[in-house]
Amino acid sequence: MHEMIVAENLLTAISDEAAKRNLKPIGAKISCGLLYAINDEALCFAFEAISKDTPCENLKLQIEHKSLQGLCMNCNQSFDVELSHPRCPMCNSEDFKLMPDAPLILEEIEFQTE
Ligand SMILES: [Zn+2]
Repeated sequence: MHEMIVAENLLTAISDEAAKRNLKPIGAKISCGLLYAINDEALCFAFEAISKDTPCENLKLQIEHKSLQGLCMNCNQSFDVELSHPRCPMCNSEDFKLMPDAPLILEEIEFQTE
């Protein structure tokens, strides 16, 4: 299961950061590209399962899906690609280059403050 591997990597990254600061993590925000097929529910479920009895237990995961970026070959604008309507919103050209999909990024970790 893809989400399980992602959850494990997240848990490691968050635990490392928490240990460095000696604080309890209570939330984390991650982002990933549209084509990075992550199922939010499956990821949260996997994370919940493996974080049991660790300092990351009960941590709230927030997942943001970034849209795909295109670069118009006609007017040189970059824009969010609508998969149902793939064309440049500025000049309506269908001649554009797809930018690489955004990777999965751990954007921020929220720690408990005393
Ligand atoms: Zn254009």
